[in-house]
Amino acid sequence: MTGSGVSARFLIVGPQGSGKGTQGVLVAEAFGIPSVSTGDVFRANISGGTELGQKVKSIVEAGDLVPDELTTELVRDRLSQPDAALGFLLDGYPRNQGQLDDLDEFLRSRGESLDAVIELIVPRDESVRRLHQRAVEQGRNDDTEEIIANRLAIYERETAPILGVYRDRGIVAEIDGVGSLDEVTARIFAALADRGFKPVADAAASA
Ligand code: AMP
Repeated sequence: MTGSGVSARFLIVGPQGSGKGTQGVLVAEAFGIPSVSTGDVFRANISGGTELGQKVKSIVEAGDLVPDELTTELVRDRLSQPDAALGFLLDGYPRNQGQLDDLDEFLRSRGESLDAVIELIVPRDESVRRLHQRAVEQGRNDDTEEIIANRLAIYERETAPILGVYRDRGIVAEIDGVGSLDEVTARIFAALADRGFKPVADAAASA
């Protein structure tokens, strides 16, 4: 269920190191919707040694994009689960024009569309700094210098342009991603509230 009784189909986009994973989970929890992170699904499959994990391991570890067919199928399956019927927060998908087209087609076939795209804006230097810090703290092996540069280049080349498509639809909330975790979270909630999306707790409080 979503707080305001309307659908809450969100996408969070930002360069690696923008904090989108952390912020995405907070938004999803507040709205009572599942957070669907393709990166997390791939990492879980890799560490679990599944067939999918074996297929994507070397690609993810190099910081390259997993082929669209694999990613798209995974997202379609996940969004078809009952808990995603009224809302979801996508993190890390779509990441290029092909995936955007596919998501549009899938949602259209269900009479749905994305309601809001949260764009976290973080300058490149800051993303790199945070990724290095995460490499030390979490030991993710796609957080090395060379792979970070590859992932940011892919973001700038393939992912940033799809924001233009969503901007033309008037659904992008541009959020300054520099600041403390709480400050950025507050900016996201304020921008969503401006668009008429209120979290579950707020709805309960004002009922
Ligand atoms: P993330 O945690 O979102 O940075 O994703 C980690 C890695 O998973 C990426 O560097 C890609 O290798 C892979 N990945 C995640 N989402 C996608 C996607 N939508 N399309 C292709 N590859 C993806």
